[in-house]
Amino acid sequence: MQTITTHPLYIGGEWVDTDAHDVVRLPFDGSPVGEVPHGDARVVDRAVTAALKGAQAMSALANYERADLLLKIAEYITRDRAEFVHLVCSETGKPIREARVEVDRCPQTLIAAAHEARQLRGEVIPMDFAPGGQGRMAMTVREPIGVIGSITPFNVPLNLALHKVAPAFAAGNAVVHKPAERTPLSALRLARTMDEAGVPKGAYNVITGDGPELAAAMLRHRDVAMITFTGSMRVGAEIRANAGLKRVSLELGNNSAVIVERDADLKTAVQRTVQGSFGHSGQVCISVQRAFVHRSVILDFLDGLTAQTAKLRLGHPYEESTDVSSLIDEKAAIRVQSWIEEAIESGARSLCGGKRHYATIEPTILTDVPAAARISCEEVFGPVVAVYSYDDLDDAIARVNGTPYGLHAGIFTNDIQRAFRSARKLQMGGVLINDIPMFRMDHMPYGGAKHSGLGREGPRYAIEEMTESKIICWKV
Ligand code: NAD
Repeated sequence: MQTITTHPLYIGGEWVDTDAHDVVRLPFDGSPVGEVPHGDARVVDRAVTAALKGAQAMSALANYERADLLLKIAEYITRDRAEFVHLVCSETGKPIREARVEVDRCPQTLIAAAHEARQLRGEVIPMDFAPGGQGRMAMTVREPIGVIGSITPFNVPLNLALHKVAPAFAAGNAVVHKPAERTPLSALRLARTMDEAGVPKGAYNVITGDGPELAAAMLRHRDVAMITFTGSMRVGAEIRANAGLKRVSLELGNNSAVIVERDADLKTAVQRTVQGSFGHSGQVCISVQRAFVHRSVILDFLDGLTAQTAKLRLGHPYEESTDVSSLIDEKAAIRVQSWIEEAIESGARSLCGGKRHYATIEPTILTDVPAAARISCEEVFGPVVAVYSYDDLDDAIARVNGTPYGLHAGIFTNDIQRAFRSARKLQMGGVLINDIPMFRMDHMPYGGAKHSGLGREGPRYAIEEMTESKIICWKV
């Protein structure tokens, strides 16, 4: 019989187990790949108590010491790359080549945070701006806020955890991290790296169990100063409603769109749309779900898109040759399949894909999808792209904007005026010119407009959310 490793919790620098455990499964076929403790509100309390001490230790370190700590974590993740890649691949079911991309981004996130840690700074405020300020000077300093509760989704389990932990450390805070139930293994493994790197006890605590129960306990806890959340719009809204006076940052979903103008480099637009729609089976918050293509080039675009999609190899995530593997579980695949069927029943045409094999959905291209179908207006989070034609660019922009979401959009055009005019009109947190919305560098400001979020990530910007700006005034 195969033995399954149990990965303990890490609280206050100690390895902690619980009586009950949860099994983590390979999404592709449901086989077990690990076991984790099933904690409850008591582990939250224990972790927050430990984090209060951890926060004191972190804030006592000099900026350069925190930066060095972050760089050491980056060095150890790089050294143990193969192990992290295997865990990320096993828990998410993303193809091994995509798991490598995620793990290789982690040092970049940490390096960017280390860079910011060294130069945490405030500003000098000119007090004689108005009568009454003569003879006074003032400056601001940035101070840590204490214990930060971090809640992350299943799709990018390691790098998104670091997008919360690295800026929190850079700012001198401690973290209680709750990974998604289906993907806790890499976050628990990260604890070993933290321990080895000499992170002060209590600065990083990781807890697993029932997501809503643990999150509710974090939200209730008076010693948690901030909740930093990445996940769905539904859960984000619930967290905000229950956060009281805690700070909240929310990185939520999207149904991202790309616009392809008549003068676009069609070959690149097709190639990038295939990557953006079907990479990680469409389970990326900035996956290309909707493509608006000028009527004069749509037939060529669709020919290229279907031909390139047909070349994608479906398979087991551990295989080097696999381009597209499963969704996070069978339930998610059944839901995506039902959305495809709903679109087809309401008049859409399927150009390829659409079939389900356990948790895997074949990459699917749809046209003529009605505006009211869920694929047009909600977040599908699966390997499905709907292609729409348009005649007038302003109409395409209005349709891209016509949802509650607003994370990223892309536009392919070689007309610089139209590119920048569109960038200003798109109601998004980010606009990519001559690229798909699924482009992100880890140091970039990243976050949503409208209902796609609140606040910005990217270490420099997350640090602003995770620090208090204090003004110090003096009379001279
Ligand atoms: P989810 O909202 O279901 O879960 C996210 C986290 O919230 C998990 O840790 C989960 O345990 C926890 N959770 C679940 N129910 C909760 C509740 N009632 N109260 C508090 N916490 C709760 O999201 P998911 O399915 O894991 O991830 C997919 C979603 O994440 C998509 O909508 C995607 O767009 C979004 N996402 C956004 C970004 C971004 O940066 N904007 C990045 C990745 C994913």
